[in-house]
Formats: sequence, structure tokens, C-alpha cells
Amino acid sequence: MSAPTDAPTAALQRATIARVAVPSPLNQLFDYRLPDRCAVEPGMRVTVPFGRSTRTGVVVDCRRDSELAPERLKPIHAVLDETPVLPAELLGFVLWASRYYHHPPGEALATALPVLLRQGAPARPQQQSVLRQTAAGATVELSELARRAPRQAELLALLRQAGGQLTADGLGGLRASAKALAEKGWLQIEQRPAYGFVPAEAALQPPPRLNSHQAQACAAVRERAGFACHLLDGVTGSGKTEVYLELVADAVDAGRQALVLVPEIGLTPQLIRRFSRRFRVPIVALHSGLSDRERLNAWLAARDGLAAIVIGTRSAIFTPLARPGLIVVDEEHDLSFKQQDGFRYNARDLAVVRASRLGIPVVLGSATPSLESLANVERGRYHHLRLPQRAGAAGMPAIQLLDIRSKPLHAGLSDPLLARMREHLDRGGQALVFLNRRGYAPVVMCHDCAWTGTCNRCDARLTFHRHDRRLRCHHCGHERPLPPACPSCGNGELFPLGQGTERLEQELAARFPEHGIVRIDRDSTRRKGAMSRLLESAQRGEGRILVGTQMLAKGHHLPEISLVAIVDADQGLFGTDFRSIERLAQQVIQVAGRAGRAERPGEVIIQTHYPDHPLLHTLLRDGYAALARQLLDERRQMALPPYAALALLRAESPTAEPPLVFLEEARQQAEALAPDGVELMGPVPAPMERRAGRFRAQLLLQAARRQNLQRLLERWVDRLAQLRSGRRVRWSLDVDPMEML
Ligand code: ADP
Ligand code: ZN
Ligand code: ZN
Repeated sequence: MSAPTDAPTAALQRATIARVAVPSPLNQLFDYRLPDRCAVEPGMRVTVPFGRSTRTGVVVDCRRDSELAPERLKPIHAVLDETPVLPAELLGFVLWASRYYHHPPGEALATALPVLLRQGAPARPQQQSVLRQTAAGATVELSELARRAPRQAELLALLRQAGGQLTADGLGGLRASAKALAEKGWLQIEQRPAYGFVPAEAALQPPPRLNSHQAQACAAVRERAGFACHLLDGVTGSGKTEVYLELVADAVDAGRQALVLVPEIGLTPQLIRRFSRRFRVPIVALHSGLSDRERLNAWLAARDGLAAIVIGTRSAIFTPLARPGLIVVDEEHDLSFKQQDGFRYNARDLAVVRASRLGIPVVLGSATPSLESLANVERGRYHHLRLPQRAGAAGMPAIQLLDIRSKPLHAGLSDPLLARMREHLDRGGQALVFLNRRGYAPVVMCHDCAWTGTCNRCDARLTFHRHDRRLRCHHCGHERPLPPACPSCGNGELFPLGQGTERLEQELAARFPEHGIVRIDRDSTRRKGAMSRLLESAQRGEGRILVGTQMLAKGHHLPEISLVAIVDADQGLFGTDFRSIERLAQQVIQVAGRAGRAERPGEVIIQTHYPDHPLLHTLLRDGYAALARQLLDERRQMALPPYAALALLRAESPTAEPPLVFLEEARQQAEALAPDGVELMGPVPAPMERRAGRFRAQLLLQAARRQNLQRLLERWVDRLAQLRSGRRVRWSLDVDPMEML
């Protein structure tokens, strides 16, 4: 990644103009007049008049003059902060990213800031009351107190159980007793910031002795001072997480903070637990389950250096760090690091940029590294650290293809597969059945007239969900009840075609009534805490059969799983996206990695109609690395990423024509700018043209050299905004798009 950098300069003395990033679709900063004796510094929030509204923006620069005539300059309404909320480093980083992705700086900053700060709330943590037992309180005889004041005794007992300290939240009726005990001097009530640290585990777990590969990987990271990017390429279960923990410990011991990015925290409660068992330093977890208030508290704890370890999803890349020491990106190949709307950044890529600006190491880890990262190893930009073997006693699972051509299928499951499942279950193993499609069936069809349920708003079929007998669109969320009869011919019988996880669950329950089944997909885990509960029941062995989507493929430790069945590998073989095969291979290896993690040898069965597919063979015979090399060769020959830089200009509107008109004009505009070394392809309708009631089209830009693409985008984006045809559409630019939809 390369784009011009210029960190915001320090406040000039006697500056009269503030340059402000205001959230707006305009790709620029705005100048405002500073009232007399008004001191602002870059990183402070201000409210400013904007059109007919008032908005909250962030001061980027203070200067003495403006290109605007003095009479056109409006004054700042108010300065919200006494000191900068955003440290200079973070401000500079976000502005860099806004230039790289050609996204308006005000909106980029708004994305980077916690919601409450965006809305102008004070940058202070919420306070909470904490009860602490005093020395005098510790000598109180509880049974005696209980006779006179049972509720006070109850509270004191609670306090002792909690180790002498307790937050007042959730005390309910006992609050009054807290006052009474405080008056007696038996406890103290203190106000403390509620940073929301991850609760410490009772017992610390000492680190294992690292094996030689792990030790070498750690040594390689330690060897280089300052910025370096390491690709930790380790098979599933090879102990990558132990390497992260070790390196995080280095940072923490040196008084530095570590930032750990993960794809989805809801899916990896176990990872957080591993950190909280290893460390006695404050940890915050930033994820979508937090309230706005909790998010701000955690953000402040990181900014002020109180949190030593920050674990978070994509947006955590914008966490301010007082003493940064290390960045880790776990499962770096995962698509969820890329934001797919608004400010379309890639947190994995930005992690490398931020580490470089900070002069600290960054570790990208995966069992199935992205081709982008492997190409960076090839170019000598990233250091390749390998963990070729599993850390524990378990060996790698044996993977085999199962030819299902012309075999009878029961909800998609063949007899040989069901027979293997029975053997594993009889021997006390656990089976994981993987199908990346939720719901009961992806299609409902009329037996008489072949009507199928389609979405009114998308070019897509509706998925049948049996538990509530509804048809749902997985693209726009539209849903309606399953009609009692065929809406087209009125008399036909509707039947489900194909299968989703719900149907697999039903089929397996009928065939294996003696074994519990746990289904894990977005439907079964919608409620808070459901994911953890389901995983725990699987770990306790209550559910001998696990059915699930890709949510099951990610990093869960399920030691009893001895058989993994991939119900349908064929979808991925013929995807329209040039990354389809890469994704399929990553998914197969990740799911397969759930097998045989403890002392049980694992077996993986992949059902396919294409048992002779050469790429599947390469994957199974020679492994992911060999397949990746082959795919990289193809990408090189076809001049596709990582050997080319792409940008996608997308447009959509309620009718089909305007997006194509806009994109055509955009194309002509780009051509007039002499886009040396950039190829323009399209405009064409998107692979799924209509989605959520909007027609979508796209123009693809492809360049062998990124500089050429950036040079064009820099000159083009502002002009694009002036195209009149752009007012009839919603358009967006996606730099380094990860999906071509
Ligand atoms: P990965 O992150 O690569 O999937 P983990 O770090 O989760 O691998 O390790 C897989 C399993 O092996 C875990 O149960 C972990 O505790 C164990 N493990 C990892 N490293 C070691 C080691 N050096 N000695 C013993 N057990 C280890
Ligand atoms: Zn019909
Ligand atoms: Zn739809």
C-alpha cells in the first residue's frame, strides 16, 4: 500500500483557521474561523455549521490562512474537548487510510471513532460505585450480624465471596445495606471508572514449553527491532495462539500494549478466555456486542494506556494506543477484516500500515494464508514463519474425497458417509457435519407448475425456514410466510429442494436418535450467549453430532471430533469470483482442522460430484501451500491480485438504467485523464443485478502497478463527484475489493 503521508502539523501559535474533518460525502477538509482566544489543537472535536445543519467534526490542522475569502469563512460553534481526544498518531493514520481508500476524511474519522464520541459525548469513562470491605469489616462475625441485620450480613457475605471487592451494579435491594455498612465503617464505597476489563480467570495458567518451531518463530520476531511483518503460517492446531500469547507477554513485560485482531469475537469466546487465563494485566475486548457506552470505556482504557491488551474485531484497528508494542492479526485470510460498506477498509492491510508507522512488529497468522500475504512473502516483504506440525499429540487428519455421482442422497448425505458417521459415533467420537447454508432448503418449488419462491427485491430465491414456516431472502432480509398452496397455479404442492443446516439436523436426528445434535449457524446463535452455550454443550459431549455453517470452522477447540464431513464442496468449484477456489480451499482446510485435535486421529470426508477435479486433488495430495502456489501462478498469468491492483466503482439505483449511465460517463471521464497503465472494464451489471430493490452495476479498474491506479484515482475521484448523473444513483468506490458482487 502506498499513498502520500503527511501527519497533521502541530498547532500553529495564533492560528486563526481550523481545518476540520466533517462527516459528509465530500472528499475534503473544511476551513473554519476560530473565535478570538479560542485554543484548539488537532485531534479535538468541534461543532461547526454545515449547510443548514450543525455537525461534529475533528480538527485536523490549525493554520493562519485559508484559500477561502475571509467573509466566506464561518466560525466554529464550539470546541468540545480541552485536550485532543484523538492522539496525533491515530489521527494521522486514519487520514492516511482515508486517502488510500479515497474515502471522505470526515466519514473515515467518524467510522474510526466510538459512536458516543461521534455524537459529541464527553471523552470520559463512566464511573461506577465499587464496594470494598475494610479491615474492620473483615472482623465482623456474620452469624451475629445476621440476627440483627440479615440484609447487611447477606451483603457482607457476598462481598467476602467476591474477595472483598464488588461493583454496586446489580445489587438491587442491597444498595441500602451498603450505605448502612459504610456508616459503620465496615465497607467503603468508591467511585471508579468503569473500563469494562475482561474478568480475570481465577486460576492463572502457566504457558506450555514451546516446541522448537514455536520457539523459532518467537525468536525470529524478537530478532528484529522496530517494524517487521511476519506471516505465521501454521497448520490448524500447530500452536499459533501460543506464539501470539508468548509475543504478547514480551510486549506486556516491556510495558507495551498489544492489539490482537480476530475475525469475529462472538465465534471465539475461547480465545479471550485463553488470554484472561494467561495474563494478570487489564484486557479489553472490543466487539459488536458492546453497548456504545461500553465501547467508549474500552476505547478510553486503551488510549490512556490502562488496558495492556486489546482484543477486537475489524474496527479495533482504529483503537488508540498509548504505548503500542505489537499487533497480531489472527486468521488473516478471513474476509471479515474487510468492511463491505461505507468506509471500505481492510483491517488486515491497515494493521501492516499502522505497525509500520508505529515502528512495531505485526504478526499475521493463519493455517491458510491469503494469496496476498503469500505473495508478500515471495517479494521479501513479509517474513515467513512456519509451524508445520500440530503441537499436541494429534496428527493431521486424513482427508478423502467421496464420489457421490449417482449415489442416493438423504438430505444430501450419502450412504457411505452415514455409515462412517455411525462407526465414529459408535466408537465414542464426535462428528461435525459442515454445510455453508442455513435454513431448511434454498428453494421451494411447485410440483405442478414449477413455480419457485423468489425475492421481490433481489435476483435471488427465497430460503425456506421450517421452524417458523417462513421464506426468507438471505440477501436483503425480506421474509414472508410459506404460502399454503402454490401462488401461481393455486393447486400444486410446494416442496423443498436442496438442503440447509436445518434439514440436515432433521435428517440426522431421525437417523441417529440416540445422539444429541447441536446446530450452529446464524439462526441458532442469534440470541446473546447462545454461541457459547451451544459450544459448551458440544464440548461436554452432550451433542455428539455438530451441524453447522462456517461459524463452526473458526478456531473452536472441540477435542472429541474425530470425523468431519463436508456435505457439498461443489458450490465453491464454480463460483463467479476469481477468489472462489482460494476461499473453498481455505474453508476445507479450516473445517478439516476441527478433526482430531486431541488424541484421536481425525478423518475428513468431502462429498463431491467432481472427484477428479485437479485443484481438489492438489489440495488433498499436496496440501494448501502447493495449491496456493498453483493459484498464484494462475493469478500472475491472468494479471489478477495479488499481481495487480483493483478498484471497483459501484453504482445502484431503483431502476436499471441510471447506474449504467453514470458508470459510462465515469469511464469516459477516467479515459480523458490518460490513465496510463490502468485498464477500465465495464460498466457491466453486477453478477446479482438486483438486490434489495436496487439495480447494481460496476466498473472495474485494473492496474499492474498500484501507483498507476492511485495516480488515476487521485485525479478522478473529485471529478466523479461532480458528474450530474451521479446524483441519480448511489455510488461508491472500493479500493482492493475482496468480493466482486
Ligand atoms: P492454533 O492457534 O495454531 O490452532 P493452538 O495454539 O490453539 O493452535 O494449539 C492447539 C492445541 O495445542 C491447544 O490445545 C494448545 O494448548 C496446545 N499447544 C500449543 N502449543 C503447545 C506446546 N508447546 N505444548 C503443549 N501443548 C501445546
Ligand atoms: Zn404451481
Ligand atoms: Zn431479497
